[in-house]
Amino acid sequence: MATLAPWALDPAQSRGRRHAEPPPAQRNEHQRDRDRIVHSTAFRRLVYKTQVFINHEGDLFRTRLTHSLEVAQLGRSMARALGFNEDLVEAIALAHDLGHTPFGHAGQDQLAECMQAHGGFEHNLQSLRVVDRLELRYAAFDGLNLTLETRQGILKHCSRRNAELLDSAEPGGVARRFIEGLQPSLEAQLVNLADEMAYNAHDIDDGLRSGLIGLEQLEGLALFSRWRQDALREHPDLPQRGARRWLAETLRRMLAAQVQDLVQATSAALQQHRPVDAEGVLHLPPLVQHGGAMRAEIVALKQFLFKALYRHPQVEDSTLRARTVVRELFAAYSAAPGEMPEDYARSPELHRAVADYIAGMTDRYAMREHQRLSGRDVFAAAR
Ligand code: MG
Repeated sequence: MATLAPWALDPAQSRGRRHAEPPPAQRNEHQRDRDRIVHSTAFRRLVYKTQVFINHEGDLFRTRLTHSLEVAQLGRSMARALGFNEDLVEAIALAHDLGHTPFGHAGQDQLAECMQAHGGFEHNLQSLRVVDRLELRYAAFDGLNLTLETRQGILKHCSRRNAELLDSAEPGGVARRFIEGLQPSLEAQLVNLADEMAYNAHDIDDGLRSGLIGLEQLEGLALFSRWRQDALREHPDLPQRGARRWLAETLRRMLAAQVQDLVQATSAALQQHRPVDAEGVLHLPPLVQHGGAMRAEIVALKQFLFKALYRHPQVEDSTLRARTVVRELFAAYSAAPGEMPEDYARSPELHRAVADYIAGMTDRYAMREHQRLSGRDVFAAAR
């Protein structure tokens, strides 16, 4: 690892794990976290979970696994340039979507609705639940027993009520910043923006590939059209060499520009505020940021994607089908817990166990289970 800046979270200063363990021999504490995440079951399942497109719609679209790898790549590049703790950034990035349900936002919104009267469902909290409890791989404890810094980074949002619950079980621990009104660590702030950068770029790519959005719609977006023209200026023969190559050159430039802009703007903010150490960061405004002009271009792009892609009639149609699958699975398991594996069926908190079981499913497993229990193929007409 490159030299850490004074405001980075030093792995040697980690506040440790809930269950004490001997220090790792060949790795630092955050590298150990990353390795545990990579070997987890929930991480492997990300390959069959989707963001925007349902898994069966095509083999070339991003899944949550490739998304998480892209977030880790962007996060590490920027962390290195800024002197942040690169290993912690990587661990948080690889774990940030572990709690996501099948079928992206559709599944998560539906599960939240089903759980309204039973303590709610929040995907960030679910990611924490996966690493704290649901992974059963170690003899000495449930979960992956990650460091506090990684767990805090995973808990990006959390309702007041849940923060209080978490804090009463672990005072001053994973939910501290929600209770005390503090910022996340620089490493966690960085992953949030790397996440946004990654999905903006890959949703353009997947959106075009699927035919749901067209190039002409993107021409009006400065962040896209500037770099498309830049690629053309440098390689005037690009239009003859295939649309995919020109698009890749555009997205590559777009990402590089955002990375560079973030590193500059964040360095300037750090110079201005000069936090004394990683703890000092928590009491300052958010320091990881884009410059004003870049921020405006990113916001315009997000607004476009929201309207043109996430609210596209075809995506909305998949959303409704996915919601039906999740809603009916929830009802079916709640009525007949014996349809779930024994660990879940025997849980004293039935609805929570049903939510955990469904949240852990891949898209296609959820579809298959729904078909088995209902006798209907909700996605049949969409294929
Ligand atoms: Mg993400």
